[in-house]
Amino acid sequence: MNRKIHVRTQSHQYSAHVGQNILSDALEATLPSQSIDELFVLIDDNVFEHHWPEIDMALQAHTNQLLRMKVPEGEKSKSVEFWSEVMDFLLNNKVRRNTPLIVIGGGVTGDLGGFAAATALRGLPLIHIPTTLLAMVDSSIGGKTGVNHDAGKNLIGSFYQPETVIADTRFLDTLPEREWINGLSEILKYAAISDQNIFRQAEIFLKKDFKSADPVVLIELITTCIKIKADIVEQDEFEGGIRAYLNFGHTFAHALEKASRYNTISHGEAVFLGMLAAKNLSELTGSNFAEDYLDKFRSLYTYRVSKENLSLDELTQHMHSDKKRTGKDLNFVLLKEWQHPVVKTVKDIQLIHQAWSAALNEL
Ligand code: ADP
Ligand code: ZN
Repeated sequence: MNRKIHVRTQSHQYSAHVGQNILSDALEATLPSQSIDELFVLIDDNVFEHHWPEIDMALQAHTNQLLRMKVPEGEKSKSVEFWSEVMDFLLNNKVRRNTPLIVIGGGVTGDLGGFAAATALRGLPLIHIPTTLLAMVDSSIGGKTGVNHDAGKNLIGSFYQPETVIADTRFLDTLPEREWINGLSEILKYAAISDQNIFRQAEIFLKKDFKSADPVVLIELITTCIKIKADIVEQDEFEGGIRAYLNFGHTFAHALEKASRYNTISHGEAVFLGMLAAKNLSELTGSNFAEDYLDKFRSLYTYRVSKENLSLDELTQHMHSDKKRTGKDLNFVLLKEWQHPVVKTVKDIQLIHQAWSAALNEL
């Protein structure tokens, strides 16, 4: 099964391909039929270890010369220093304006590689090959690229759309369990803000044996999530309005990640807890939910932080310094009902503290 989604943004149109073992065919459809002089590849170190021979073969079919740079795992690679090393790699090898940069890995490699593509020679054609579930459903779509600064995550970057995204689920065979959970949280986010069916489809993960999840349902799920994100980004590429809905659970999540110094809680774990808190805050501000669709997924999450080490004051303070905040009040993406997100300003700190309890009781 092979799915293709068209993404239209103001600046650009491109396709996202989703399927199992589709890499060669999708490259065929993307790269010009005649051989390209050079192809530049940025690849996550772990993906290289597991999958290089097959990737190499698929790429060699299109070029005379493959230039490759490995990206070490972890946020350290999303730095100005490493971005600068990538510039050395590209420029010292005389990259040209029309030479595609192929970026293979999870969100770290994708954000870094996207930013490198955006900045080298003011823009190289970018091909994203996401290899984590999170990157497939979220970070490879939408054109956000960037690196971190000491002052905070993702503070340096730009919007830059790829030529193609190729999400080949075969890469997920080697994905560690914790990384599946990271992707699941974003999938549940799309369910909460946009599509009730996703909650049912996501039950394939409840068996916990993620690698043997039904491949057809998995491809459908990834496709649906990409469509939702593409649809939102088409309407609001630069996050002036409804793109904010994609931050459901994230105001709380970013505060949790910051309070745990980005090393004891993963993004996905924080987003799941953030969604519990956001749902709670929705109820505290007037919504009524007949059913709790997140509930059955709670057992999949285990945490390495305990609530004794977190203070409500500190968490709320981190929310005040979130980079997405524009005014002095705190804005949240809440749910009027399932699949009806709204952005609300909440001034009552007591309510926010109460909302946190839904998340912290999980720890
Ligand atoms: P995210 O997509 O969640 O932002 P990262 O880019 O930080 O994730 O990748 C998470 C981890 O998974 C890293 O250690 C990375 O090397 C590893 N990784 C990425 N893709 C794969 C894969 N297909 N198989 C095994 N490990 C992978
Ligand atoms: Zn997220």
